[in-house]
Amino acid sequence: MTDLQPVVDEIYEALKPRLGEGRVADYIPQLAHVDPKKFGMAVVDVEGRVFRAGDSDEPFSIQSISKVFTLTLALGKHGEAIWNRVGREPSGSSFNSIVQLEHEGGKPRNPFINAGAIAVSDLILAGHTPREAIGEIVRFVRFLADDETIAIDPAVARSEQATGFRNFALANFMRSFGILTHPVEHVLGVYFHQCAIAMTCTQLARSGLFLAAAGHNPITGHLVVSKQRARRINALMLTCGHYDGSGDFAYRVGLPGKSGVGGGILAVAPGKASVAVWAPGLNENGNSLVGSLALEMLANRTGWSVFGQ
Ligand code: GLU
Repeated sequence: MTDLQPVVDEIYEALKPRLGEGRVADYIPQLAHVDPKKFGMAVVDVEGRVFRAGDSDEPFSIQSISKVFTLTLALGKHGEAIWNRVGREPSGSSFNSIVQLEHEGGKPRNPFINAGAIAVSDLILAGHTPREAIGEIVRFVRFLADDETIAIDPAVARSEQATGFRNFALANFMRSFGILTHPVEHVLGVYFHQCAIAMTCTQLARSGLFLAAAGHNPITGHLVVSKQRARRINALMLTCGHYDGSGDFAYRVGLPGKSGVGGGILAVAPGKASVAVWAPGLNENGNSLVGSLALEMLANRTGWSVFGQ
Protein backbone atom coordinates (compact mmCIF):
# COMPACT_ATOMS: atom_id res chain seq x y z
CA MET A 1 0.00 0.00 0.00
CA THR A 2 1.11 3.56 -0.63
CA ASP A 3 2.76 5.86 1.88
CA LEU A 4 -0.09 7.97 3.20
CA GLN A 5 1.99 10.34 5.31
CA PRO A 6 2.01 13.08 2.62
CA VAL A 7 -1.79 12.81 2.33
CA VAL A 8 -2.30 13.06 6.09
CA ASP A 9 0.11 16.03 6.29
CA GLU A 10 -1.67 17.77 3.45
CA ILE A 11 -5.08 17.32 5.11
CA TYR A 12 -3.75 18.78 8.37
CA GLU A 13 -2.24 21.79 6.58
CA ALA A 14 -5.42 22.39 4.57
CA LEU A 15 -7.61 22.29 7.67
CA LYS A 16 -5.44 24.42 9.96
CA PRO A 17 -7.34 27.63 9.10
CA ARG A 18 -10.61 25.92 10.05
CA LEU A 19 -9.58 24.59 13.46
CA GLY A 20 -11.96 25.81 16.14
CA GLU A 21 -15.02 25.73 13.88
CA GLY A 22 -18.16 24.13 15.27
CA ARG A 23 -19.42 24.00 18.84
CA VAL A 24 -17.72 22.10 21.61
CA ALA A 25 -20.25 19.96 23.54
CA ASP A 26 -20.98 21.70 26.83
CA TYR A 27 -23.94 19.72 28.13
CA ILE A 28 -21.33 17.51 29.79
CA PRO A 29 -19.50 20.30 31.67
CA GLN A 30 -16.13 18.51 31.73
CA LEU A 31 -16.05 18.33 27.91
CA ALA A 32 -16.43 22.10 27.63
CA HIS A 33 -12.90 22.57 29.02
CA VAL A 34 -11.23 21.12 25.93
CA ASP A 35 -9.28 23.44 23.61
CA PRO A 36 -11.54 23.80 20.52
CA LYS A 37 -8.51 24.16 18.21
CA LYS A 38 -7.17 20.67 18.83
CA PHE A 39 -6.83 18.38 15.82
CA GLY A 40 -5.49 14.87 15.58
CA MET A 41 -5.54 12.23 12.88
CA ALA A 42 -4.15 8.69 12.73
CA VAL A 43 -4.43 6.15 9.93
CA VAL A 44 -3.40 2.55 10.64
CA ASP A 45 -3.36 0.40 7.54
CA VAL A 46 -3.93 -3.37 7.47
CA GLU A 47 -0.17 -3.88 7.23
CA GLY A 48 0.16 -2.14 10.59
CA ARG A 49 1.75 1.06 9.33
CA VAL A 50 0.71 4.24 11.14
CA PHE A 51 0.42 7.69 9.56
CA ARG A 52 -0.46 10.60 11.82
CA ALA A 53 -0.74 14.35 12.13
CA GLY A 54 -1.43 17.01 14.73
CA ASP A 55 -2.41 16.05 18.28
CA SER A 56 -2.71 12.38 17.39
CA ASP A 57 -1.11 11.26 20.64
CA GLU A 58 -3.19 13.35 23.01
CA PRO A 59 -5.99 11.46 24.80
CA PHE A 60 -9.56 12.73 24.44
CA SER A 61 -12.96 11.50 25.60
CA ILE A 62 -14.14 8.87 23.12
CA GLN A 63 -17.78 9.19 24.24
CA SER A 64 -20.11 7.41 21.80
CA ILE A 65 -17.29 5.76 19.89
CA SER A 66 -17.25 3.35 22.85
CA LYS A 67 -20.59 2.07 21.55
CA VAL A 68 -18.78 0.19 18.77
CA PHE A 69 -16.73 -1.69 21.36
CA THR A 70 -19.66 -2.45 23.68
CA LEU A 71 -21.75 -3.66 20.75
CA THR A 72 -18.91 -6.00 19.77
CA LEU A 73 -18.68 -7.28 23.35
CA ALA A 74 -22.44 -7.77 23.68
CA LEU A 75 -22.58 -9.68 20.38
CA GLY A 76 -19.79 -11.89 21.69
CA LYS A 77 -21.70 -12.63 24.89
CA HIS A 78 -25.26 -12.93 23.63
CA GLY A 79 -24.98 -13.34 19.86
CA GLU A 80 -27.89 -12.35 17.63
CA ALA A 81 -30.26 -12.47 20.64
CA ILE A 82 -29.29 -8.84 21.34
CA TRP A 83 -31.63 -7.81 18.53
CA ASN A 84 -34.58 -8.67 20.76
CA ARG A 85 -33.65 -5.64 22.85
CA VAL A 86 -32.32 -3.17 20.31
CA GLY A 87 -33.02 -2.62 16.60
CA ARG A 88 -30.68 -2.04 13.70
CA GLU A 89 -32.34 0.72 11.73
CA PRO A 90 -31.19 4.33 11.39
CA SER A 91 -33.08 6.51 13.84
CA GLY A 92 -33.35 9.75 11.87
CA SER A 93 -33.54 11.53 15.20
CA SER A 94 -30.98 13.08 17.51
CA PHE A 95 -28.58 11.06 19.63
CA ASN A 96 -30.50 11.53 22.87
CA SER A 97 -34.07 11.46 21.52
CA ILE A 98 -36.82 9.72 23.47
CA VAL A 99 -39.78 10.10 21.06
CA GLN A 100 -39.32 6.92 19.04
CA LEU A 101 -39.18 4.73 22.15
CA GLU A 102 -42.81 5.35 23.02
CA HIS A 103 -44.03 4.13 19.63
CA GLU A 104 -41.87 1.03 19.52
CA GLY A 105 -42.42 -0.64 22.89
CA GLY A 106 -39.38 0.98 24.46
CA LYS A 107 -37.03 -0.75 21.99
CA PRO A 108 -34.36 1.63 20.72
CA ARG A 109 -33.81 1.87 16.98
CA ASN A 110 -30.11 0.98 17.00
CA PRO A 111 -27.16 0.37 19.34
CA PHE A 112 -25.46 3.68 18.53
CA ILE A 113 -28.03 6.21 19.75
CA ASN A 114 -27.91 6.79 23.51
CA ALA A 115 -31.00 4.67 24.27
CA GLY A 116 -29.63 1.75 22.24
CA ALA A 117 -26.21 1.92 23.84
CA ILE A 118 -27.79 1.99 27.30
CA ALA A 119 -29.70 -1.20 26.37
CA VAL A 120 -26.38 -2.75 25.27
CA SER A 121 -24.77 -1.75 28.59
CA ASP A 122 -27.61 -3.60 30.33
CA LEU A 123 -26.75 -6.73 28.30
CA ILE A 124 -23.06 -6.48 29.25
CA LEU A 125 -24.05 -6.17 32.90
CA ALA A 126 -25.72 -9.60 32.91
CA GLY A 127 -24.14 -11.68 35.69
CA HIS A 128 -21.76 -8.90 36.74
CA THR A 129 -21.52 -6.03 39.17
CA PRO A 130 -21.20 -2.61 37.48
CA ARG A 131 -17.54 -2.49 38.51
CA GLU A 132 -16.86 -5.86 36.83
CA ALA A 133 -18.70 -4.82 33.67
CA ILE A 134 -16.73 -1.56 33.44
CA GLY A 135 -13.50 -3.52 34.00
CA GLU A 136 -14.45 -5.91 31.23
CA ILE A 137 -15.08 -3.07 28.77
CA VAL A 138 -11.76 -1.36 29.56
CA ARG A 139 -9.86 -4.67 29.27
CA PHE A 140 -11.52 -5.31 25.90
CA VAL A 141 -10.54 -1.89 24.55
CA ARG A 142 -6.95 -2.39 25.79
CA PHE A 143 -6.88 -5.78 24.09
CA LEU A 144 -8.16 -4.30 20.80
CA ALA A 145 -5.64 -1.45 20.85
CA ASP A 146 -2.90 -3.67 22.30
CA ASP A 147 -2.23 -0.93 24.82
CA GLU A 148 -2.47 -1.38 28.59
CA THR A 149 -2.31 2.36 29.30
CA ILE A 150 -5.87 3.13 28.13
CA ALA A 151 -8.03 4.32 31.05
CA ILE A 152 -11.24 6.05 32.05
CA ASP A 153 -11.16 9.77 32.81
CA PRO A 154 -12.92 9.83 36.20
CA ALA A 155 -13.73 13.57 36.01
CA VAL A 156 -15.67 13.02 32.78
CA ALA A 157 -17.52 10.03 34.25
CA ARG A 158 -18.51 12.11 37.31
CA SER A 159 -19.56 15.02 35.12
CA GLU A 160 -21.86 12.76 33.08
CA GLN A 161 -23.27 11.14 36.18
CA ALA A 162 -24.09 14.54 37.67
CA THR A 163 -25.76 16.00 34.58
CA GLY A 164 -27.07 13.02 32.60
CA PHE A 165 -30.74 13.79 33.21
CA ARG A 166 -31.76 12.81 29.69
CA ASN A 167 -29.97 9.50 29.92
CA PHE A 168 -31.72 8.81 33.24
CA ALA A 169 -35.03 9.61 31.52
CA LEU A 170 -34.24 7.26 28.61
CA ALA A 171 -33.15 4.47 30.96
CA ASN A 172 -36.19 4.77 33.23
CA PHE A 173 -38.47 4.81 30.21
CA MET A 174 -36.88 1.65 28.80
CA ARG A 175 -36.95 -0.02 32.20
CA SER A 176 -40.72 0.57 32.34
CA PHE A 177 -41.03 -1.48 29.13
CA GLY A 178 -38.73 -4.25 30.42
CA ILE A 179 -35.99 -3.44 27.89
CA LEU A 180 -33.59 -2.89 30.78
CA THR A 181 -33.38 -5.66 33.36
CA HIS A 182 -30.94 -4.19 35.90
CA PRO A 183 -31.30 -1.19 38.22
CA VAL A 184 -31.11 2.01 36.18
CA GLU A 185 -28.27 3.41 38.36
CA HIS A 186 -26.17 0.31 37.66
CA VAL A 187 -26.77 0.38 33.90
CA LEU A 188 -25.98 4.09 33.68
CA GLY A 189 -22.92 3.64 35.87
CA VAL A 190 -21.58 1.30 33.20
CA TYR A 191 -22.69 3.55 30.34
CA PHE A 192 -21.19 6.76 31.76
CA HIS A 193 -17.86 5.07 32.43
CA GLN A 194 -17.59 3.53 28.96
CA CYS A 195 -18.25 6.97 27.43
CA ALA A 196 -15.54 8.46 29.67
CA ILE A 197 -12.76 6.25 28.30
CA ALA A 198 -9.94 8.49 27.08
CA MET A 199 -7.89 7.47 24.04
CA THR A 200 -5.54 9.02 21.51
CA CYS A 201 -6.24 8.92 17.77
CA THR A 202 -3.45 6.37 17.40
CA GLN A 203 -4.93 4.07 20.05
CA LEU A 204 -8.40 4.46 18.62
CA ALA A 205 -7.35 3.69 15.05
CA ARG A 206 -5.51 0.59 16.30
CA SER A 207 -8.56 -0.58 18.23
CA GLY A 208 -10.76 -0.32 15.12
CA LEU A 209 -8.33 -2.22 12.91
CA PHE A 210 -10.16 -5.54 13.33
CA LEU A 211 -13.13 -4.02 11.52
CA ALA A 212 -10.92 -3.14 8.54
CA ALA A 213 -9.26 -6.56 8.49
CA ALA A 214 -12.19 -8.99 8.39
CA GLY A 215 -12.37 -9.44 12.17
CA HIS A 216 -8.75 -10.02 13.08
CA ASN A 217 -6.07 -7.65 14.28
CA PRO A 218 -3.21 -7.93 11.77
CA ILE A 219 -0.74 -6.35 14.23
CA THR A 220 -1.30 -8.73 17.16
CA GLY A 221 -2.65 -11.64 15.13
CA HIS A 222 -5.68 -11.92 17.45
CA LEU A 223 -8.98 -13.03 16.02
CA VAL A 224 -11.56 -10.65 17.48
CA VAL A 225 -14.77 -11.52 15.62
CA SER A 226 -15.78 -13.54 12.56
CA LYS A 227 -15.65 -11.99 9.09
CA GLN A 228 -19.41 -11.89 8.97
CA ARG A 229 -19.64 -10.08 12.31
CA ALA A 230 -17.04 -7.48 11.28
CA ARG A 231 -19.02 -6.84 8.09
CA ARG A 232 -22.24 -6.47 10.04
CA ILE A 233 -20.76 -4.05 12.59
CA ASN A 234 -19.44 -1.99 9.67
CA ALA A 235 -22.93 -1.97 8.13
CA LEU A 236 -24.39 -0.60 11.36
CA MET A 237 -21.68 2.05 11.60
CA LEU A 238 -22.40 3.16 8.06
CA THR A 239 -26.16 3.37 8.51
CA CYS A 240 -26.38 4.52 12.15
CA GLY A 241 -22.96 5.77 13.29
CA HIS A 242 -23.61 9.50 12.94
CA TYR A 243 -27.12 9.83 14.39
CA ASP A 244 -29.37 11.92 12.15
CA GLY A 245 -26.29 12.89 10.16
CA SER A 246 -25.55 9.29 9.06
CA GLY A 247 -26.91 9.82 5.53
CA ASP A 248 -24.83 12.96 5.10
CA PHE A 249 -21.66 11.22 6.34
CA ALA A 250 -22.26 8.31 3.92
CA TYR A 251 -22.81 10.79 1.10
CA ARG A 252 -19.71 12.83 1.82
CA VAL A 253 -17.26 10.25 3.15
CA GLY A 254 -18.68 6.86 2.19
CA LEU A 255 -17.08 4.90 5.03
CA PRO A 256 -18.51 3.13 8.09
CA GLY A 257 -17.88 5.51 10.97
CA LYS A 258 -18.81 6.26 14.55
CA SER A 259 -18.66 9.70 16.08
CA GLY A 260 -18.67 10.88 19.68
CA VAL A 261 -19.55 14.25 21.21
CA GLY A 262 -15.94 14.55 22.40
CA GLY A 263 -15.18 15.36 18.74
CA GLY A 264 -13.69 12.01 17.75
CA ILE A 265 -14.66 9.84 14.78
CA LEU A 266 -13.53 6.28 14.11
CA ALA A 267 -13.85 5.36 10.42
CA VAL A 268 -13.21 2.02 8.75
CA ALA A 269 -12.02 1.46 5.19
CA PRO A 270 -12.63 -2.30 4.81
CA GLY A 271 -9.55 -4.14 3.56
CA LYS A 272 -7.53 -0.93 3.74
CA ALA A 273 -7.25 0.88 7.06
CA SER A 274 -8.75 2.16 10.28
CA VAL A 275 -8.78 5.91 10.78
CA ALA A 276 -9.33 8.09 13.84
CA VAL A 277 -9.75 11.87 13.81
CA TRP A 278 -10.33 14.32 16.62
CA ALA A 279 -11.49 17.94 16.43
CA PRO A 280 -13.73 19.03 19.31
CA GLY A 281 -16.08 21.47 17.49
CA LEU A 282 -19.32 19.73 16.50
CA ASN A 283 -21.78 20.35 13.67
CA GLU A 284 -25.54 20.64 14.16
CA ASN A 285 -25.92 16.84 14.37
CA GLY A 286 -23.34 16.48 17.16
CA ASN A 287 -20.59 15.15 14.88
CA SER A 288 -17.08 16.63 14.61
CA LEU A 289 -17.20 19.34 11.95
CA VAL A 290 -13.50 19.50 11.03
CA GLY A 291 -13.11 15.76 11.68
CA SER A 292 -15.77 15.00 9.06
CA LEU A 293 -14.00 17.31 6.61
CA ALA A 294 -10.70 15.51 7.24
CA LEU A 295 -12.31 12.14 6.49
CA GLU A 296 -14.01 13.53 3.40
CA MET A 297 -10.63 14.71 2.11
CA LEU A 298 -9.00 11.38 2.95
CA ALA A 299 -11.73 9.39 1.18
CA ASN A 300 -11.43 11.62 -1.88
CA ARG A 301 -7.67 11.30 -2.01
CA THR A 302 -7.55 7.54 -1.48
CA GLY A 303 -10.69 6.41 -3.32
CA TRP A 304 -11.63 4.39 -0.23
CA SER A 305 -15.39 5.07 -0.27
CA VAL A 306 -17.25 1.76 -0.01
CA PHE A 307 -19.50 3.04 -2.83
CA GLY A 308 -16.70 3.10 -5.39
CA GLN A 309 -13.75 5.21 -6.39
N1 GLU B 1 -21.98 10.28 26.92
C1 GLU B 1 -22.70 11.02 25.90
C2 GLU B 1 -24.15 11.09 26.28
O1 GLU B 1 -24.64 10.13 26.82
C3 GLU B 1 -22.51 10.33 24.59
C4 GLU B 1 -23.11 11.07 23.46
C5 GLU B 1 -22.27 11.02 22.21
O2 GLU B 1 -21.08 10.89 22.22
O3 GLU B 1 -22.89 11.17 21.16
O4 GLU B 1 -24.82 12.05 26.07
